[in-house]
Formats: sequence, C-alpha cells, structure tokens
Amino acid sequence: MYTIDSTTYRSKAFNQRKGEVRFLLLHYTAVNFNGSINALAKGDAVSAHYLVPDPLDASYRKAGFDEVRLFQLVDEPQRAWHAGVSAWAGHSGLNDTAIGIELVNQAAVRNGQFVFPAYPAQQIAALTQLCQEILQRYPAISPTAVLAHSDVSIGRKSDPGAAFPWQALHQAGIGAWYEEARKVHYQAIFAQQMPELAQVLDRLRQYGYSVPEQPDDAFVRGVLRAFQLHFRPADYSGRLDSETAAILYALVERYPV
Ligand SMILES: [Zn+2]
Repeated sequence: MYTIDSTTYRSKAFNQRKGEVRFLLLHYTAVNFNGSINALAKGDAVSAHYLVPDPLDASYRKAGFDEVRLFQLVDEPQRAWHAGVSAWAGHSGLNDTAIGIELVNQAAVRNGQFVFPAYPAQQIAALTQLCQEILQRYPAISPTAVLAHSDVSIGRKSDPGAAFPWQALHQAGIGAWYEEARKVHYQAIFAQQMPELAQVLDRLRQYGYSVPEQPDDAFVRGVLRAFQLHFRPADYSGRLDSETAAILYALVERYPV
C-alpha cells in the first residue's frame, strides 16, 4: 500500500465545486517533482487533487523522500484547477465535476516532435491504487469517464501522453478499453471500405468527444490524435485509418450511452 500524504504539500489554488464528481482526469506535469510542487502547491494559478511522483526523478529524492507516496494537494470535495477549457459528453468546464491527478513525467517537445518518457512501474502501481480507491468512493465515475486531459481539451493538450499505459489500467479495473476480437472484426470490414468521415465523427461524439457540427480539418486531426493517444498510442498522427476506426466502433459497441 502506498501512503497518501495529505499534509506535506497543500495547494491554495482551489474553490467550491458546482456539480457532483463524475470524471477522473489524468495529467502529466511535464516538469520534475520540484517544478511540479512549485506550480501545483506553491503557486496560485493551477492545482490538482493529487500528485504522483516519479521515483527515478532526482528532485524527488532531493526533497527528502525515498519511497513513493501519493500527495494530496486539494480535498476531493473542492474544485481543483487542472482542466482549463475542457468538455466531454455534454459537460464543459470539467474542473467542476472532475478529480484531477497529476503524474510527474517530463514529456517535452523537441524539434517539433513530442517525446513521451515511459512511466516507471512503481509510479503506475501507486496511481493504480489511488484510482481504485477513488472509483470505490465515486461509483458514478463510469469507465468512459476516466479520461486523459488530451481527450477533453482537443488540440490544446497532449497529457498524459502516448507512454501512458491505459490498457494496463483498464485491466486493473480503471477506465475503458475495447475488445480485441471486435476490433479485428471491424478492421477487416474497414480494410475493404472505410466508413465516411461524418460517421466516424458521429461515433466520436457518441463516445463522448466534444466535436462541433462542422469541424475544420485541424480539429478533425486534433480529435483523431487525441483518440489515438488514448487508444492507439503506437501512431497518433491524427490520420484516420482502418485500425483507428475499428477501435472506435468496438469501444462504442462495448460502452453504449
Ligand atoms: Zn493536463
């Protein structure tokens, strides 16, 4: 069991929720532990309910810790400030309805390309325990309501990124995943004939993505990239292909609204 430390670091950046908790939103901080604490606990602009450190990060050990613990910065009934402009399944401004977890992970953009470092196993084990406890407290958070920041802030955010192990979390009872056999079924069909883009966009809306009626090309690439970052991280170019469409159809089938 990993300890939840609710006293060492506390954020002042929170206010009153307007709404019940129904989403669990995962993020990376893109900076080390020291930078994460400065932003989330010592600053007054952003916050999250929890911060999960990276045990391999030197600044974490320098802060005096040798074991992984889970830092609670904001109490769950309060509204932490992590989502910004965001929307999912007809809800917007998800800070009101989400619990936010930040993971220390130093993702970066180099020469215009995203670099997503792997998440150490111990960090994911600690996160898994935390998510399982949260889901027990809030049964209203359905599998499709465990989300990436990139899912709910299309074109604006990429976290927790392509290295995040969504499938492993699903296997631990956290979040959604597709059935492989149904993906294979749909992919065989779509390899012959791709579905119309309009149908794919409808399925994305059905699943929960906030897609406008007449999205421009950049938005379409953005929402496909967000979907791929979550469900097909090997290639998140934002181009529609038969595997991406097959995964989407299999997911909508498995998790009907
Ligand atoms: Zn984020």
